[in-house]
Amino acid sequence: MIIQLEKDISQQQKDLVLETLSEKSVKTKEVVTQISDYLVAIGKQEFDIRLIGNMNGVKDIHKVDDNYKLVSTKWKVKPTQVELDKETHIGSNGFSIMAGPCSIENEDQIQKMVDFLKQNNVKIMRGGVFKPRSSPYSFRGVGIEGLKVFYEICKANGIKIITEIMEQEQIDDMYDYIDIFQVGARNSQNFNLLDALGKVDKPVMIKRGLSGTIDELLYSAEYVFSGGNEKIILCERGIRTYEKAYRNTFDINAIPILKEKSHLPVIIDPSHGTGSRSLIEPISLAGIMAGADGAIIEVHQQPEKAASDGQQSLNFNEAIRLFEKIRKTNEFKKGL
Ligand code: PEP
Ligand code: MN
Repeated sequence: MIIQLEKDISQQQKDLVLETLSEKSVKTKEVVTQISDYLVAIGKQEFDIRLIGNMNGVKDIHKVDDNYKLVSTKWKVKPTQVELDKETHIGSNGFSIMAGPCSIENEDQIQKMVDFLKQNNVKIMRGGVFKPRSSPYSFRGVGIEGLKVFYEICKANGIKIITEIMEQEQIDDMYDYIDIFQVGARNSQNFNLLDALGKVDKPVMIKRGLSGTIDELLYSAEYVFSGGNEKIILCERGIRTYEKAYRNTFDINAIPILKEKSHLPVIIDPSHGTGSRSLIEPISLAGIMAGADGAIIEVHQQPEKAASDGQQSLNFNEAIRLFEKIRKTNEFKKGL
């Protein structure tokens, strides 16, 4: 069950609710987020929920039979919209584009990308400064000093930043310089990191694990929500399968299923979801039709020279064509 509490509930009223639940052998966890105050109640005994619903200080009560609760559509039917600022939202209506290099490399690269994004009306730039690499000898990112340069240029141009965080110790250092924390596929079940991100008041985008199930992704989101942060975005980025013709198998089914099970926005990552440049466009357009709320796309001014993931990065001309097709497909979808 999810019990939404009134913001001004008194301690006495809350104690009475907790006592009544405990009499019904229900275990509770209190969750206080930026938006609301909840009790997540877990118990097997059947009882008339109006008993709780009618108590003073209780705003609403919902039965949720999913194992994940707060992220479920079983209590919140209305899609969640994650706000970056008054004009920039993710989810609910419109299609958000996040674009940029796999890795931040230098100031010139950032400036060129920011100019490109502005010309194409893209509001959010991606770019990793802490890179999780399979080999320790690969380029591992420019780190926090690089993030500061990334931030200065983006801020001066009104562009938002999404970048990957790898461990909870980085939260404080990164906090002032980012707009969305990205939890990468390899950290999708780093529960200490997810717990810690539940304590911050900035959006978190969680990618599906390399071989993570849909439920596992939703549980990861539940960690952040139950920690106190409701600003969560889900990301389908492909999974490992036996298929060797491409880097990852983009799971198109994941989009409508995630939208059915959860009220959180769903972003697609066709770059990692396929691993090859030629597949980005068809998979992006398919993702829109399947109901995605946005896409995160790797773009580089010279993909052949990129420090990482050049093979799946679009050059500027290819990205312009893609953005145009994304916009047209969106319009087409709205007319259906
Ligand atoms: C990335 O976004 O560059 C990245 C490493 O993604 P993923 O965690 O999906 O592999
Ligand atoms: Mn990448």
